[in-house]
This record gives sequence, C-alpha cells and structure tokens, in this order.
Amino acid sequence: MRDIDYQEQGGILSPLKNLSFFARKPVTVGLDPRPASANYRGFHLNDWETCIGCSTCQKVCDNAAITMVRIADLPEDPAKGIRNLRPAIDYGRCCWCALCVDLCPTGSISLSREYVHTCRDDELDSYFILPDSKGIHGTPFPKGWAKSDDADMIALAREHMTELPPAERITGFAEIVAGYDTNQAIMEASRCVQCGMCFDACPTHMNAPEYIRAIWQGDTEEAVRQIYRTNPFAHTCGRVCTHRCEEACSIGRRGAPIAIRWLKRYAMDALDHERVKAIAAEGKARFLSGKRVAIIGAGPAGLTAAFDLVKEGHEVTVFEAQSKSGGMVRYGIPDYRLPQDRLDRDVDVITSLGVKIQYDTRIGKDLTMEDLERDYDAVVLSIGLWMGRSTRVPGADQPRVKRAVTLLRDVAEQIKITVPESAVVIGGGNVAMDIARTIARLQKRTHGAVKVTVTALEDLTHFLADPDEIREALEEGIEILDARGPQEIIFKPRTLSEDKLHGLRTWRVLSIFDEQGRFAPVYDPTDEQIHECDMVVEAIGQSADVECLGASLTERLEWQRGRLKVDAQGRTNLPWLWAAGDMVRGPDVVSAVADGHRVAASIHAQLS
Ligand SMILES: Cc1cc2nc3c(=O)[nH]c(=O)nc-3n(C[C@H](O)[C@H](O)[C@H](O)COP(=O)(O)OP(=O)(O)OC[C@H]3O[C@@H](n4cnc5c(N)ncnc54)[C@H](O)[C@@H]3O)c2cc1C
Repeated sequence: MRDIDYQEQGGILSPLKNLSFFARKPVTVGLDPRPASANYRGFHLNDWETCIGCSTCQKVCDNAAITMVRIADLPEDPAKGIRNLRPAIDYGRCCWCALCVDLCPTGSISLSREYVHTCRDDELDSYFILPDSKGIHGTPFPKGWAKSDDADMIALAREHMTELPPAERITGFAEIVAGYDTNQAIMEASRCVQCGMCFDACPTHMNAPEYIRAIWQGDTEEAVRQIYRTNPFAHTCGRVCTHRCEEACSIGRRGAPIAIRWLKRYAMDALDHERVKAIAAEGKARFLSGKRVAIIGAGPAGLTAAFDLVKEGHEVTVFEAQSKSGGMVRYGIPDYRLPQDRLDRDVDVITSLGVKIQYDTRIGKDLTMEDLERDYDAVVLSIGLWMGRSTRVPGADQPRVKRAVTLLRDVAEQIKITVPESAVVIGGGNVAMDIARTIARLQKRTHGAVKVTVTALEDLTHFLADPDEIREALEEGIEILDARGPQEIIFKPRTLSEDKLHGLRTWRVLSIFDEQGRFAPVYDPTDEQIHECDMVVEAIGQSADVECLGASLTERLEWQRGRLKVDAQGRTNLPWLWAAGDMVRGPDVVSAVADGHRVAASIHAQLS
C-alpha cells in the first residue's frame, strides 16, 4: 500500500475552499435550449388520428427502435386497413435517421424541433415513449422533419395498365386489361411498404407482401409459391378478385393503393404452367389416407376444399351438374373480364393433383344425398347461388323478362339467344353490370348499336357495383339511371292473342330501408318513367337451389333465415355434412376460397 501524500491530496481544510465557489459567477451560460432549425430531427410526434397502426415505421427501422403498442381504446377494422397499434420509440436505439417519417404511408409521424430530455437514473424508462401529436413532454412543439411533397420516399401513383379503348372493346368479348410486363410489375411492386394490411383484409389471408416482394426481386417462382399457400384460384383472383386487400392498403391513404390483384395476375401469367403445377403439388402427402370425400359443386369453394383434401392424402370426387367446372366463375363472369382459358388453368392445377370431377351429374337427380352419405366419409355441399331472384312486380313472370344469371349462363355456353334491340336491366350490383355489358356487346354485333339502360334503387353514390365497372359501362354507351324503383313491366296488346313487351315502369326512390334497417323502399309515384325496351333483365340477387337435398334431409338440417346453418368450420348439424361458399357465406371468389380451406381443415381434422 502506498503512503498517502497529504500534501498532494490537499490539506485537511481544503474542502472548505469549495465554499469560495458560491460567490463566483457560473461558468456555463445559456442553459435554455436554442431553437432548432425548421427541418430539425428531434423527438417524434405522431398524429393518432391519421396513424393507422400499419407498422411500416417499425419495419423500416434498422435500429429496432420502434415497438408497436396495442391501444385497446382505439378502433380496429382489418377490412378498412385500421389497426389499433401505435409506435413507441426507444431513444436508447433511435438514431434520428427519420426513415420512419419518410416511409410513413399516412404521413402521421414527424420529428419535432424538441431535442432536450434529461432524467434521473431511476427514470430511464422515460427514454421509451409513445409519441402523440404533443411530443415527449406533453408540450406542443413545432414540427421539424416532416413529410412534404419533395421529401416523400413513397411513390403514390400506380403503374398504369393498358386497357382496350371502349370503341374497340364493345365489338366483342376480348379481355379489356392488358396485364403488366416485367418492368411495370417490378416498378409497381417496389411501391409496397410490406405493412401487411392487405393480409389482414383478405378473406383467405393471402401472403400478398411476400409475393409482391418476390416479384420485386424478379423471382416469379417464389411469388407463385406464396400465392399457392392460400389460393388455388390464382389466375381467377389475379383478374376478377374483389381485391378488398387494396381497400386496406396503407399506400391508398394518400395515393393509389398497390395493384395487388394485377401483381398476382402478372406472376401467374409470367410463370410456365407446368412449373405452376409443380409448385402447387409441393407438400402433397405421399400416402393415401384411405378416406373418401364427396364434394357437390365444382365452383371455387368446392374445388378449393378438394385441392386441400387431396393434398392431405384423401380421395376426393367432385360432383358437378354442368359439363365444365368453375361454377359462377365460368357461367357468370364474362370473358372480357376473365378469359376462360385462365380458369381452365386453375382447374387443371387442381385436377393434376388427383381431384376427380364427375361432370353432368346433378345431385338430387342423378345421385341422391343418401348415396353420398353411404359411400363417403364426409360430404361437402358447395352448390352456390344459382337461382336468380325476381322483383315479382306485375309482368315479371313473362317470357321476355329474364334473370341475369340464366342469360349469362346461356351466353357462356354459347346458346343462341334472341338479342334485344333495346334492354332494361333492373339492379345496381356487379351482376347487373355484367349482364348489361354482355347485352351491349351482343347488340353491337347483331344490331350495330348499343341500347341498354340500367335502373337501380340506389343513388349513384351508394351503388353496389364496383366503380370501375360503372365507369366502363358508361364508357361503353350504357345508360345508368339511379334511384328508380321498378313498379310494373308493361305489355301492349299486339294482336288479340299476343302481348308485346312495351317497357318498364319505374318510380323515383325516396328511401330504401326503414328506421330498423329493413328493406322497405318508399317511392314518389308522381315521378314516373316508362323505359321502353323489348327485354327486361332482373339482376337483383340469387338464392341457392336446395332441392337436391330432398325432403327428409331438408327436414333434418338446421336452417337460419332461409340459409343452411353452419358453425365456424362450415359444419352442419349432421356429422358427415359440411357446407361452403356462396350458399352459406359469399359473396365473392376469394371468400369461397377461404370457405373451401375452412371446411377442408375441419374435415381433415375429423378424418385423421
Ligand atoms: C355474374 C356474376 C359475376 C361475378 N363476378 C365476380 C367477380 O368479378 N369477382 C368475384 O370475386 N366474384 C364474382 N362473382 C361471385 C362468384 O362467382 C361466387 O362468389 C363464387 O363463384 C362462389 O363460389 P361457390 O363455389 O360457392 O359457388 P359457385 O361458383 O356458384 O359453384 C357452385 C357449383 O355447384 C354446382 N351445382 C349446383 N347444384 C348442384 C347439384 N345439385 N349437383 C351438382 N352440382 C351442383 C353448380 O353447377 C356450380 O358449378 C360473380 C357472380 C356472378 C353471378
């Protein structure tokens, strides 16, 4: 031990010297923070009203300084792209690079001009904050670095997809949209911030961020692999999906949402069909389970269930009343939106795995439900909604009044129909647009001119049809009359024995639903119009044709408001029968696909 040198340490009175400092002026001056510059990157601000909890800030943060915190009081709505998460910042990690600001899709995050924060040792948690629009100390501070038009790293405009001009497309049934080429697809994919809002909103939870990233990386094979993880109707959905994912896309908050559907279409078209088949077969069970499943209906729901079950090693037979598969996708959706060869490819992938389809076999006529119950371990009912509903206004039962789904089916099957010179369609949904546009094409071909009027109860702002469908229909010369309610289909006596269709009488709609939200339209009879035409088409919805069940089974099954009752897995109250697709849920292909997966998982669990 070394001797202490008291001289070196100072004398015993030296601490008292410190007292002299009390009399001196402080050396450090100007402790008040100096105002930061306009673009300063200080502590975070987050406008909770604008923030949608997409988590892009967290994903882009290289230092892992951001944690998403669930705020139970905030609204959450996956279909609208709203999560109740908000970013919390760990200032022990943050390097103020501001990537979170630059890549925030909504522009809710900014950096303030506030930069001073001190605390005691036991308050270190105060460096982990959940910023709101007030800032770290709850005192409003001006914004520093924020999103502006010239400091936005997000491309807000969508890659344009070429469309046939209206004058050209009305002459036939050629596909309207052209599809992306590789460069366009990569550019479009590069706009995605990988937030995954699309995954949440998609009924079948497609891995859209993963396939978009694969497209961006030029790896279409991986993109198709990701698509097939959840959707065997990949060509179909790449063209006609109702793309709810795009409604939830965070980029859509300020710009055009990512063209998720068109990117799926690109990947499917870009990869060789044989490779698609090989990818779809990945993970297929090597051994048969010895269990047999019967599926009624070869639409998206039935075929998706078949796809999953055959991959699990079960023997699957699909019974289909028509001579081709695809259900309403083939017999409802016109070729100009979905060329049939693309649907053929989807079906080919499914059958290539070993799914057997027995065509021209109507259950209830060619075979009974009892036959299936006896011969199979499980039965899936996925017969869709094939009966068009009627307005039942006077005259609706006459032969020149058609149901949209019947007419579309005739056109798909190339059955010769008498093309009306003028037609009125009742209904404002997508089916109404499909039949109106189909008739318009047939009229152009047969009579050289389009004369189709669509009348709907809703006003244009509340139309059920997709806005693109409405736009395209208008471009094709179709007249759309909103807020018109059908009252009567009028026939004029031509001869004493024969009536001729004169037109549709409508009244102006004042309201559609009553105070309890029930359908109870109110009309203004003083505002009457007669829409002259020689064909009226009703496109006001469909119902399921459950005659195939037979009286005894119908009795044994449980029903709810006219629909077959199923549980969350699609099981009916009978242990051998499941139901899926439009007939229980609807309303679109991707929901039918989700339903198909659900019943397949439930059946597999029961059979294993
Ligand atoms: C005109 C029209 C346009 C549409 N456009 C779109 C669109 O753009 N995007 C979209 O996502 N969705 C669209 N849809 C909805 C979509 O087609 C359906 O949601 C989807 O096809 C439902 O699938 P599913 O398997 O439940 O029934 P379906 O596709 O209807 O298939 C049911 C199958 O069961 C068969 N079947 C019925 N009864 C029997 C029986 N007794 N025995 C044997 N087989 C039987 C039928 O022949 C049919 O093949 C459209 C629908 C229509 C009518």
